[in-house]
Amino acid sequence: MNSQVKHSPIKTVNPFTNEIVKEFDVMKPAQIASIIDKADEAFKSWKNTPFSERAKIIHKVATIMRERKEALGALATLEMGKLLAESIYEVELSADIFDYYAEHAEKFLADHPLDVKHGDAFLSYEPIGVLLSVQPWNFPYYQITRSAASNLMAGNTMVLKHASNIPQCAQIMEDIFKDAGLPNGVYTNLFVPGKDVEAIVSNPKIKAVTLTGSKPAGASITAAAGANVKKATLELGGSDPFVVLEDADVSEAVEVSVAGRMWNAGQVCVSPKRVIVPAKMYDEFLAKTKEAFSKLVVGNPMDATTNVAPLCTEKAAEDVVSQIQKAAEQGATIALGGKRVKRTGAFVEPTLITDITPKMDAYFEEIFGPVFMLYQYKDVDEAIEIANATEFGLGGTVFGKDTKKAVEVARRIDTGMVYINHVTGIAPELPFGGTKESGFGREQSIAGIFEFVNAKLIRTTTPDKAY
Ligand code: NAP
Repeated sequence: MNSQVKHSPIKTVNPFTNEIVKEFDVMKPAQIASIIDKADEAFKSWKNTPFSERAKIIHKVATIMRERKEALGALATLEMGKLLAESIYEVELSADIFDYYAEHAEKFLADHPLDVKHGDAFLSYEPIGVLLSVQPWNFPYYQITRSAASNLMAGNTMVLKHASNIPQCAQIMEDIFKDAGLPNGVYTNLFVPGKDVEAIVSNPKIKAVTLTGSKPAGASITAAAGANVKKATLELGGSDPFVVLEDADVSEAVEVSVAGRMWNAGQVCVSPKRVIVPAKMYDEFLAKTKEAFSKLVVGNPMDATTNVAPLCTEKAAEDVVSQIQKAAEQGATIALGGKRVKRTGAFVEPTLITDITPKMDAYFEEIFGPVFMLYQYKDVDEAIEIANATEFGLGGTVFGKDTKKAVEVARRIDTGMVYINHVTGIAPELPFGGTKESGFGREQSIAGIFEFVNAKLIRTTTPDKAY
C-alpha cells in the first residue's frame, strides 16, 4: 500500500493479500440526516404494517440469503478473512434468525394481560422509532441480523453503521432487504467511521442505540445516549473460561476447546480464551493440546483444507502479537507460536500460552486472535476464582461427564451464558448477552425483542375504583 495516498477509512482490504480492493466515500452529515429523516418517515407506516406483511418480507430476506449463500460467504471471506465454510455457516445462521422472528414476533409481542383487582389492565408492546445499530466486522451478516431481525419485526426502523473494514457486506445486506421488498427507509446503511457516531446518537429522530464491539466504543456510545436520554444496549468483549472437570474425557475437551478457540482465527467474543484444567490432568492436557496444534493448517481462507484464517487486518495481527510479547515479558511461557506467520497476510501463529499469573495483563485482558491460554487449578474453588477473575462476563463452558456437577459449577460462573460440554454457542431461540463489562441487554430469543419496545400499560376501570 502506498502510504502517501490518502485513503478513505471505509474500504475493503483483503487480509489474505493486504491489497485494497474497494473504497467508499464517507457520508456527509447532511446525507446522514436525510437518511435518518427517511427512516423516521418510514416508521410511520412500518409500525402499522401488520405482522403478517412484515413477516413475508423478513422470510424473503432469509430465502434470498440462503439462495446467495456462496456469494455472500465469499464476500465476507474477502473482506475480513474468515474461512469460507465459516462464512457460509454464518449466512445460514442469519437466515434462521430472520425466519425465527418472522415466525414468532407476533406471538411474542401479543398484549400481556395483568392480574388486577378492578377492571382490566394489559401491556401493549409498541415500537419506538428509528434505532441506530453499530456493529463489528467479525460476523459481518450475523451481527446485522441480531438487531435487525427482532427490531424490524417489532415495527422499528433501523440505520446501520457497520465496521469500516466490511463496507461491501454492509451494502449487500441493504440490497437484500430491498430485493426482499422492505419499504424504502426501513433499513439503511450508513458509511461513517466510528468516531462520528456520537453525533448521530444526538439526532432527535434516533430513539435508541445498540452497539456490539469494544469497551471504549461502548462507553462512548452509552455516554452519548445518556446525555440524550436514550436507551442503549451493549454487547462487548469477552474472555470466556472453559473449565474442565476431573471426570472429563481429556481428548474430547482438547478437541472442543482447540477447535473453538481457532474458530474465526480466535476473533469471536465467545471463544474459549482461558482453558482451566485440574492440576492432575495438566500434563496430559498440555501434551494433547500441542498435538492438536500440530495438525492446524494456517493458510488461504478460501481453501477447504485451511483451519486457521488470517486476522481481519494487519493492525489486528500486530495488536495480538504485542499482547503475546507482553505476556512473555511479564513471565508467561509461550509454549507454541507467538509470532507473525512469515507470509503475506494478517496471519498470527496459533499460540499456546501457559504459566499466566494475576501479575500479568494476559490474566485479565481479552486476546482477539488464535491464542489459547492454559491454566491449572487445585480445586473447584480455585477454578471458579480464575474463571471469574476478569471484568468480562460473556460466555463460558464447563466440561465434564457428570452433568449435575457441571451445572453446579456453571451456576458459580459470573457470565451471561454457560454451556456444558460445548463452547458458548448461538441459536435463534437462545438469548445472547453478557454481564459485568461484557455489556447489558439481550439479543435473540423472546428476550431480544423486548429491548426496544415500549411496554405500554393500558388500564380500563371505573373512576371510583381507579388506583
Ligand atoms: P470496535 O472498535 O469497538 O468496533 C465495533 C463497531 O463500533 C465498529 O462499527 C466501529 O466502527 C464502531 N466504533 C468504534 N469506535 C466507536 C466510537 N467511539 N463510538 C461509536 N462507535 C464506534 O470493536 P472491534 O475491536 O473492531 O471488535 C471487536 C470487539 O467486539 C471485541 O472486544 C469483541 O469481543 C467484541 N464483540 C462482542 C460481541 C458480543 O456479542 N458481545 C460480538 C462480536 C464482537 P469503525 O469500524 O468505523 O471503527
